[in-house]
Amino acid sequence: DTVILWLRRDLRLADNPALSRALSGAGRLVPLYIHCPAEEGRWRAGAASRWWLHHSLAALDRAFRERGSRLLIARGEDSLTELRRIATACGATRICWARRYEPATRATDARTELALRADGLRCDSVEGNLLFEPWDLATEANGPYRVFSAYWRRAVTRLTLPVIEPAPTALPPAPSDLGALSVDELGLLPRVRWDTGLAHAWTPGEDGAQARASAFIDGPLATYAAKRDRPGVLGTSRLSPHLHFGEIGPRQLVRMIADRGLVLDEGPAEPYVRELGWREFAYHLIHHFPHTTDEPLDERFAAFPWREDETLLAAWQRGRTGIPLIDAGLRELWKTGWMHNRVRMAAASLLTKNLRQPWQAGARWFWDTLVDADLASNTLGWQWTAGCGADAAPYFRIFNPVRQGERFDPTGDYVRRWCPELARLPARFIHQPWAAPAGVLTDAGIRLGSDYPQPIVDLAASRREALAAWETIKNQA
Ligand code: FAD
Repeated sequence: DTVILWLRRDLRLADNPALSRALSGAGRLVPLYIHCPAEEGRWRAGAASRWWLHHSLAALDRAFRERGSRLLIARGEDSLTELRRIATACGATRICWARRYEPATRATDARTELALRADGLRCDSVEGNLLFEPWDLATEANGPYRVFSAYWRRAVTRLTLPVIEPAPTALPPAPSDLGALSVDELGLLPRVRWDTGLAHAWTPGEDGAQARASAFIDGPLATYAAKRDRPGVLGTSRLSPHLHFGEIGPRQLVRMIADRGLVLDEGPAEPYVRELGWREFAYHLIHHFPHTTDEPLDERFAAFPWREDETLLAAWQRGRTGIPLIDAGLRELWKTGWMHNRVRMAAASLLTKNLRQPWQAGARWFWDTLVDADLASNTLGWQWTAGCGADAAPYFRIFNPVRQGERFDPTGDYVRRWCPELARLPARFIHQPWAAPAGVLTDAGIRLGSDYPQPIVDLAASRREALAAWETIKNQA
C-alpha cells in the first residue's frame, strides 16, 4: 500500500495525527507539500509568512531525510491536479491529511476529497492543529458561541490530557522520481533581502518550536500572569508562528505543561492555557462565521464612517505616527515579523479609532508582515479591537497609547529599543515626547518633527471624533 501524506499546516513529525494515520498500514509513504497560493483565495500568504514557510519546509525535509525519507514538494494551480498526478505516478491508493478551517480552504478541500474518492482513492482527513474541532462545542441552544468566557468555561471541562506520539525514528523510503521541486524553487524568499531581522529572531521548524516551548515552560511560564502584558520583557512564549505552521501543536504544549506537574486550569499555567483557548475560539468563530475574514460580524459597522487616508495609513505602517508605543510596535513588526499582543491591541485601536482607518487595512498589513499571520486569530484580533467582532471590546473603549505605554512599559525600555532616536529621553516623557519641555528635548538631542515625528493625530480630539462616528451607527438595527 502506498500512502500520500499531504502536509499543510502540520509541518512536524511528533504528534502528527495525519502522519500516524498514514503510517498505519503503509508500505510506502510519500510525504508531500503542494504550494498552491491560488487556493488561498483573497488570503494567500504574505511576505513574512512565505519567509517562514521556506525555512519550515527546509527543516521538515531535513527531518524526513534523517529518517530515511524525504519531503516531496510540488507547485500548481490546484491541489487536486497535483495529488492526482503524484498518486498516479507512485501508485498511491490512499491520501491522508489534517484538516484546515479557513473558508477558502474548506471549500477546495471538500471538492478535492469528492474528486479523489471518485477516482477510487481512499481519503483520510484527520483533526487539525487544535485542542477541539471548531464544531465540537456548542451553546445550550446548539449554536455557536459568541462570548469567549462562556466558550472557554465549557471547553475547560472537556480538556483531557492527550497521549503524545513521539516523532518516528525511521521512515520508509520515499520515491525520488516524481518530478519534485526543491524548496528554493518555490521562490518563497524575498528577492530584496529584508529578512535579516527575521533570521536573527526566529528558528522556524520543529526543533526550533520544541526548544522555544521547553524554554518557555521551564522559565517565563511561572511569571506569565504578571509579565505577559509587558512588551519590554520576554514574558510570553512567542510560539505563535510555530503554532500557526503546526511545527508544534497545542496538544503537545498542554502535555508538556502537565508533565511539569502543573494544573491546566488553575495556578500559573491557567492564564497561558486560556490564551491557547483564544486561539481555539478564533477557529470556532471563523468556522461558524466564515464571512468575517472580510466583513464585520457586527453588521452596523458596514455603514461606519471610516475616513480612508493613504498618508495616515502609511505613517502607521512605517512606525512614524509620533506616538512612541505605537511606532515601537510597528517597527518591531517590520524588523522581526512579530509584535507583542499588548502593542497589537494599542496599534489596532489607534488605527481604527483615532485614525479611523478601516480595520481591514490594518488586518492586511499584519497579514503581510507577521510571521504568525493567521486568518482566524488575525480576524479575531482586529474585529475585537475595532469593536465589530464577537465578544469585542466595545467601540467606545478607546486605548490611550500614552497611558498604555506608561502602564506596560514603565521604564520606556521597549520604546528605546525600537525607537532609538528617543533613547535619551527620560522615562517621564518617553511615551509623550511632545509634552516634554524644550530643554528636556534639547538635552536628549531630539528635534521633534525632524528626528522623530510630531504626533500625526491629536489623541483627545480624535477620540471625541471616533465616539461621534460611533454614535452615527450604534442605534442601527
Ligand atoms: P502567548 O501569550 O505566549 O500565547 C500563547 C499562544 O496563544 C500564542 O502563541 C497564540 O497562538 C495564542 N494566542 C494568544 N493570544 C491570542 C489571541 N488574542 N487570539 C488568538 N490566539 C492567541 N495571533 C496570531 O497567532 N496570528 C495573528 O495573525 C494575530 N493577529 C492579531 C491581530 C491583532 C490586532 C491582535 C490584537 C492580536 C492578534 N493575534 C494574532 C493574537 C496575539 O497577539 C498573538 O497570538 C500573540 O501575541 C502571540 O505571541 P505569543 O506566542 O508570545 O503569545
